[in-house]
Amino acid sequence: MRILLTNDDGINAPGLYVLEKIAAQLSDDIWICAPSEEQSGAGHSLTLTRPVRMREHAPKRFSVTGTPTDSVTMGIKKAMPGPPDLILSGVNRGANLGDDVTYSGTVSAAMEGALAGIRSIALSQVYSGEGHGNNVSFSAAEAWGAKVLKPLLDAPFAPRTLINVNFPPLAAEDVKGIRVVRQGFHDYARGSVVEGMDPRGFPYYWFGLHGIEHTLGHNSDLEAIAEGYISVTPLQLDLTHDASLAQIASRYTA
Ligand code: MN
Repeated sequence: MRILLTNDDGINAPGLYVLEKIAAQLSDDIWICAPSEEQSGAGHSLTLTRPVRMREHAPKRFSVTGTPTDSVTMGIKKAMPGPPDLILSGVNRGANLGDDVTYSGTVSAAMEGALAGIRSIALSQVYSGEGHGNNVSFSAAEAWGAKVLKPLLDAPFAPRTLINVNFPPLAAEDVKGIRVVRQGFHDYARGSVVEGMDPRGFPYYWFGLHGIEHTLGHNSDLEAIAEGYISVTPLQLDLTHDASLAQIASRYTA
């Protein structure tokens, strides 16, 4: 089984090394193609206004001067001798829960894999406490990663679907188990916009991240994490809201 790994935190991200350890328990044919710099929050963006460069750091280890989506495309079409059997994106530093998945470079890389018809799974390690991004423990992800992935390797994946996995901010031995749950949603308290002054006296703004406060929804990914479980959520690329189709269409009929 050939596996392509990527990580929106960049080619040197600690979570990518954790993912390599997890993937090594599944296969010995591991390829890496990841952005050269951190791309968190890049969503499903594609680089169109400038060229991208690909650098080979070691055999089967490449970086791309672009987005997570660019990296998956380059991995499949240019870095690897053929398409992988599996794409793993992560382990992201931080949560990708609820409606935050549309911001997520981690989840979007798996979306790109799903669009290419490849079994794709996003993995994220939730951490608690603001301003501690440099000291995130991936202990839960590292210990539980292979256990979460193995049942998914031969599970049926419908076209244009992917799996989003989040690990709770707990020591591995304190994780309560695995729950397959739906995507939840946040209250719209979209963090802070921090204002500062640059060295030349011009104001700048910097978006802060919110915590994982949310309206508890039963059987959601947010609830599973809050209760100490690993969340496993199947997602689909088709964002159509079926229930609204007929109602909206009726507004255009004479
Ligand atoms: Mn990230």
